[in-house]
Amino acid sequence: MAAIRPSAETPAERVADAQALPPRIVFGRPALGQEEIDEVVDALRSGWIGTGPRVRAFEKMFADYVGARHAVALNSCTAGLHLALLTLDLAPDDEVIVPAMTFAATASAVIHAHGRPVLADVRRDTMCLDPTAAAAQVTPRTRALVAVHFAGRPCELDRLEEIRLGRGLRLLEDCAHAVESTVDGRHCGTFGDFASFSFHATKNVTTGDGGMLVTDDEDAAEAILRLAQHGLSNDAWSRTANGGPGAYDVAVPGFKYRMTDIQAAIGIHQLARVEHNLPQREQIHRWYDEAFADLPVVLVPAAAPGARHARHLYTLLLDLEHLDVDRDAVRRELSDEGIGTGVHYRAIHLEPFLRDRFGYARGDFPAAEWISDRTLSLPLSPGLSSGDVRRVVRAVRLVLRRHTR
Ligand SMILES: *Cc1c(COP(=O)(O)O)cnc(C)c1O
Repeated sequence: MAAIRPSAETPAERVADAQALPPRIVFGRPALGQEEIDEVVDALRSGWIGTGPRVRAFEKMFADYVGARHAVALNSCTAGLHLALLTLDLAPDDEVIVPAMTFAATASAVIHAHGRPVLADVRRDTMCLDPTAAAAQVTPRTRALVAVHFAGRPCELDRLEEIRLGRGLRLLEDCAHAVESTVDGRHCGTFGDFASFSFHATKNVTTGDGGMLVTDDEDAAEAILRLAQHGLSNDAWSRTANGGPGAYDVAVPGFKYRMTDIQAAIGIHQLARVEHNLPQREQIHRWYDEAFADLPVVLVPAAAPGARHARHLYTLLLDLEHLDVDRDAVRRELSDEGIGTGVHYRAIHLEPFLRDRFGYARGDFPAAEWISDRTLSLPLSPGLSSGDVRRVVRAVRLVLRRHTR
């Protein structure tokens, strides 16, 4: 271990100091290869680091991979959710149904698009939107449903489709966990009107941060692209590629939401490896399931027949009735053992930004709360060695055994 210098001076020294920590198994460690490093270096040396040819290539690859007609690379999944919802032209009282168990951004995007997020409970076993609960929240003001393929497990898309068709609603898929997810061979993200994918640092495909909006609707894709580049009709790369200083017009006030070529340089090689990585994620899942079967935990069941789970998260659900500590104490003790974990998520109706504004309270969404109190995500990355997995297993067994009652 490098000694920590009294004062780090250069950037390299600062990084070295930050790394001079006890060896830990980090939650969500990305699996980056030499190809990503070389491509980033090539992008840096190319003289074009903004949105350009590598972004174009990544969009094409991504659209082909999931089987969508259009893909727009963005700087986050949240940006994609925001822009997709903006194309719906929501009036202030228009409602969008969002699961109570998801990341905050799924609901924030609705608020930023001027709508009202109306939460619905999830199923305990799948952690995905419960179609019965969603149908019960539909009112004459409902405009759309957001399906989150939680942890990578496809939602019950056929049942959501019935709700939506009967009432003329739009379907937005939050595919942040679901790059590899399929139903009967068809990729999640191609069932709804739009889907937004995340390439945040811990996601199965990462670009550091980034996102991809996919849709088959050409007009929507064009509108979203324009909104993502300041409302400009034409980006800098196409103006340059078309032989010089081309013109653009600004028809709408836009946002700065595009991906850069530095990010796309990473994404191209991440995506190329995603199918190769999935069996490793599945293997780690199986090892964990086997190793924890006799502990006071609830193991999450397999995906439905015909559905492929992307294995983004391994969520351990603590059987609190047979433990003498809560989830946060288990997390702390695992951290003391050098194991980083995550919580996906605290039920969002209990977060102040929704609770205080829309009057939600504990008891409103029992399944989301049940998960929220018990869930703990363990490291799951193709970058983990079998030794790393054994360390996680040993630590989880040690901590849970210590507290079994
Ligand atoms: C990560 C995540 C997001 C946000 O993705 P960003 O790329 O960070 O904007 C949205 N929804 C879910 C379910 C997520 O896990």
